[in-house]
Amino acid sequence: MPRKKSSATDTATDPSLSASPQAAEPTVLEQALAKLGLTRDIDLALHLPLRYEDETRIVRLRDVRDGDHAQIEAVVTHQEVTFKPRRQLIVTVDDGSATCTLRFFSFYGSQLKAMAVGRKLRIRGEVRGGFFGKTMLHPHCKAAGGDLPTALTPIYPTVAQLTQPVLRKAVQAGLARADLSDTFAPGDLDELWHGTGSHPLWTLRDALYFLHHPTPDTALATLEDHSHPAWQRLKAEELLAQQISQLQHRRERAHLRAPVLQEPPDEGAGTLHARLLAALPFGLTNAQQRVVREIAADMARHVPMHRLLQGDVGAGKTVVAALAAAVCIDAGWQCALMAPTEILAEQHFRKLLAWLEPLGIGTAWLTGSQKPKERRAMLERIESGQAQLVVGTHAIIQDKVRFHNLALAIIDEQHRFGVAQRLALRNKLHLEGENATKLEPHLLMMTATPIPRTLAMSYYADLDVSTLDELPPGRTPVVTKVFHESRRMDVIERIRAQVQEGRQVYWVCPLIEESEALDLSNATHTHADLVDALQGCTMPGGEPALVGLLHSRMPVPEKKAVMQAFIDGRMALLVSTTVIEVGVDVPNASLMVIENAQRFGLSQLHQLRGRVGRGAVASVCVLLYSTGDAARLSDTARERLKAMVETNDGFEIARRDLEIRGPGEFMGARQSGEAMLRFADLAQDDEILQWARREAPKLLDRYPHLASKHVQRWLGGKVEYLKA
Ligand code: ADP
Ligand code: MG
Repeated sequence: MPRKKSSATDTATDPSLSASPQAAEPTVLEQALAKLGLTRDIDLALHLPLRYEDETRIVRLRDVRDGDHAQIEAVVTHQEVTFKPRRQLIVTVDDGSATCTLRFFSFYGSQLKAMAVGRKLRIRGEVRGGFFGKTMLHPHCKAAGGDLPTALTPIYPTVAQLTQPVLRKAVQAGLARADLSDTFAPGDLDELWHGTGSHPLWTLRDALYFLHHPTPDTALATLEDHSHPAWQRLKAEELLAQQISQLQHRRERAHLRAPVLQEPPDEGAGTLHARLLAALPFGLTNAQQRVVREIAADMARHVPMHRLLQGDVGAGKTVVAALAAAVCIDAGWQCALMAPTEILAEQHFRKLLAWLEPLGIGTAWLTGSQKPKERRAMLERIESGQAQLVVGTHAIIQDKVRFHNLALAIIDEQHRFGVAQRLALRNKLHLEGENATKLEPHLLMMTATPIPRTLAMSYYADLDVSTLDELPPGRTPVVTKVFHESRRMDVIERIRAQVQEGRQVYWVCPLIEESEALDLSNATHTHADLVDALQGCTMPGGEPALVGLLHSRMPVPEKKAVMQAFIDGRMALLVSTTVIEVGVDVPNASLMVIENAQRFGLSQLHQLRGRVGRGAVASVCVLLYSTGDAARLSDTARERLKAMVETNDGFEIARRDLEIRGPGEFMGARQSGEAMLRFADLAQDDEILQWARREAPKLLDRYPHLASKHVQRWLGGKVEYLKA
């Protein structure tokens, strides 16, 4: 893709960056930059260093301590190429205060000349002090002399093809060309974000030039922890853009139209909703009732609902979805529920079928592995409207699937889906409303990886959030234990005892194949071991205890058969990779063992644990950890395991997760596969977020044009993501 230039910078071109800025074919440099997402000048300007090196000073070798990064100037006193133990170039240098040995395992002939005896070199690298004196491995060397830089040298995140000097030059050129004027003058803002220090407000230009070339006296710690006022300035700009963008989407949506889904007013007890409630084997929790009301109120409006339903694992989101579906179907429209995996979709389908079919609801079911004949029949039912409720996987959003009148789209485990998929579902309604406005279905997204509520409310300004903050009654909290791998046999004893009592057990492994680099358990081997270990163990009826294996590379029918045997209670122990993570509901399972638990993320552990403790029996989750060389128990892993033992509360887990991992990963990578915020850090920057939240609506009202420009500049191509 040829580099796009923002209009404001077309006049200033730096010839040092690219010889042919107008060329249609991207240059090698442009391709490499594109890999880093750097297609515009402003993107280059906003590509901040990971860290800095100090090349501003020459130090004396005698003063350098072991492990220091240092720059010296010294004369070559000896040079040799040896072949034992391997080919290497060894150069000894002396700066008058001490000597140092430089080693190179790869080198060119030209380097031998450049480092000939008698040459004076400027050398930079990490110094190691050993028994044989100071050494440097592969230091940077050039001829001594020449000016010293006056600023710290930035080290940028890069890709293999792109060296630091080339990238540095590109960033420099981007900085020079980009329009760095402040979008909003301080006078535009009601309230200034001053950042932490006592500095006056930094302009964007000053902040960026500073961060790319900080002066040597800068406290590096404030750059590293991003608390420096220049960083604060960028964070404030970014969060402002994020808030404005969300508001824009919310306002755009307010002009869209959706079918009004209202229950027939007179029927009361006769509505599908009421009949479903009456038929359920349990009463709704208060939280469920509240959430159902919130959803129904949204759907009764002619603006499309855009609501996130968050609730801990086991909080009972499925029945909420079913009740929402009932309202929709009662109003004469179709409802679709999309789940990320076939197992989960099928489970939902069975459950909804059991609830809704007795009430006379037509259903259909769509997955990728369906036989062509069955699929054709389903497609027909969906297009004719015979199927009022459609459940399935991604198969639902394929072009071939045409709905009769889809009015409610429910997405389970929404963070597992990408933008395009969510948008595709929204475009499945092919009807027009009054004045030929295109109608959109209402959208309900469900997730069991809750975002702390306040964060959700302020960060997702574009989304309404409903929270199930109460578990159905009668659950016995899961007790979590952490054991070292060496206690595996004790754990197996526990499994035998549970199985003999008629209980079922999950055993989760992190990977399905041994990777050479990491000594991780292999589900297949573990399965074989456990089959051995459970020899002769029987269930209360006298049948031998079956041990099943489930992993993502198995053919779907085989997967389903294994899962079904476990759901039916015919299988005592299910060894699996994380495919069972989402949503599987087997109330008789009372023990979960997670192997190499130190390798899992906190929310993933919590999700897995949510598979047990679903019935009235006391359940246990055992976290087995190992501390081999390849799997050292890091501080963060220890924190995660500790959090698991200390709390069962999904919201508390989410809060700790945020603390341990930092929200960059929390909000970005997990939610979308790409980080959304480059500068701001939601755990740290709540104050700035709140500020941005206050300023954004005012700016959008007063300066709509500038506001759009600001979003474009800061979020660039990422706006589409936010929209979904
Ligand atoms: P999740 O929120 O994790 O998707 P599910 O919808 O799978 O949870 O519900 C977990 C279990 O709790 C299911 O077996 C469901 O039938 C049951 N359940 C849901 N709501 C209630 C309730 N109010 N009282 C008792 N059991 C309930
Ligand atoms: Mg669920």
